[in-house]
Amino acid sequence: MKGKVYLVGAGPGDYKLITLKGLQTIEEADVVVYDRLVGKELLKYAKSGCEFIYVGKESSNHTKTQDEINDIICDKALEGLVVTRLKGGDPYVFGRGGEEGEYLVDRGVEVEVVPGITSAIGGLAYGGIPITHRDHASSFHVITGHLKDEDSELDWPTLAKLKGTLVFLMGMAQLDKIANSLIANGMEASTPAAIVNWASTKKQRAVTGTLETIYKTALDNAIGSPGIIVVGSVVNLREKLNFFENKPLFGKKILVTRAREQASSLTEKIHDLGGEAVEFPTISIKDISPQTDIVEQIKNLKDYSWLIFTSQNGVRIFFENLFKAGFDVRQLSHIKIAVIGKVTADELMKYSLKPDIIPAKYIAESIYEEILPLLKPEDKILIPRAKEARDYLTDQLKKHCVVQEVKIYETIIGEGIQDKDEIVEMLENNEIDYVTFTSSSTVKNLIKILGDKKELLKKSKLVSIGPVTSETIRDNGFLVSSEAEVYDIPGMIEVLGG
Ligand code: SAH
Repeated sequence: MKGKVYLVGAGPGDYKLITLKGLQTIEEADVVVYDRLVGKELLKYAKSGCEFIYVGKESSNHTKTQDEINDIICDKALEGLVVTRLKGGDPYVFGRGGEEGEYLVDRGVEVEVVPGITSAIGGLAYGGIPITHRDHASSFHVITGHLKDEDSELDWPTLAKLKGTLVFLMGMAQLDKIANSLIANGMEASTPAAIVNWASTKKQRAVTGTLETIYKTALDNAIGSPGIIVVGSVVNLREKLNFFENKPLFGKKILVTRAREQASSLTEKIHDLGGEAVEFPTISIKDISPQTDIVEQIKNLKDYSWLIFTSQNGVRIFFENLFKAGFDVRQLSHIKIAVIGKVTADELMKYSLKPDIIPAKYIAESIYEEILPLLKPEDKILIPRAKEARDYLTDQLKKHCVVQEVKIYETIIGEGIQDKDEIVEMLENNEIDYVTFTSSSTVKNLIKILGDKKELLKKSKLVSIGPVTSETIRDNGFLVSSEAEVYDIPGMIEVLGG
């Protein structure tokens, strides 16, 4: 058994800034050892059973010393495990990655380094500041504000003479001293300076000024650690190049109430638009078992001429049953299929089946309108769907032919209920800008979960996926702030500002 350590740069904060190779090492790891500045979303990519060890600094916790960290990593590797040591930014830029590497190699452990995007460059970029520019700086210098030996000093006379961009990391506690020392050693007091705090994360904030004003400005705005201090005229480009803070959802917190397994598409889109998604699953999808009813109908599929799927879950669970009963898609070869929504259609395509009808509007009323001209009295329709689905579709169709509805799943209260107190607190503090509802059940369940605190929802903007969900919101006494024009996730993103 031979273990191995990957020393990996996770990038400055936005988890998507890791390299492909870095991501692969997380997927491969038996143990992930990570720091404070690493995007926590990355941990989701680890295999199940992977051990996570947090070694970052946090005021309330005991801080692990570098020796303890070295030992943890080394011991795990010597046990034969693959250890991914995730560090913020690049592992060799002031991250003590070199020291960790040496320690491991000295003890016979194999080490592979995966470079990352350092905050000194990438973090600045997210702050709208390019580290070089032909009109401003033809070199850059990355300097630590935190020296190993407290008494040793930086070479201020040399630093003050440099014409390139100066970047100080780990310097926030010394900001006053850094600015003053540069001025005292001859740098113009009017030289532009900026600080980017929590760069490339949802908490990013930046301030600009000059060497003379930056300390006070940072204090006034309560800008603390972690911060990147940058000195030089490239700072002036921020106004133009500030792409990140200008994203439509930057600084916004959005509650995602749909089932955990289905939340990711919405969560990821919100992230890409600069917002922060808070996942709070109010529903969870549960198969109705035993599924004797649907198996019965699957055996009789030859008698049917139409199948209607109203959701992705309906498709998935229907086919699970079809395969379990020993059939394959040929059982449907004579059947026409109608679906509600593109996502439902995409799910169907996974089984190489193309729907005959996808109505323009993703609701039952619309599917009824489109299927009606095609129906003959001898048709027989099978509708496998949710227990709590509205009666509208079956009631209407029954006027024209034989309709068999089978309830194959139900939506129950989601696991988000465990985090109720946290969400209540966020709502109380006006931290949630939007609450997204992707179905009537998400509305009903969130209200049920919040109980006597439900009025707090009035503090946020409520965004609905479509008219049926909106009606449920209104029926419960709340206002709908916006409703998707196309009743699906991209449609919701559109009204959220995408
Ligand atoms: N290896 C890291 C730097 C580690 S030293 C890298 O390459 O980025 C830690 C310092 O990096 C912090 O004190 C801060 O100055 C800076 N830093 C790292 N990530 C940051 C972020 N997201 N926002 C602001 N500063 C950050």
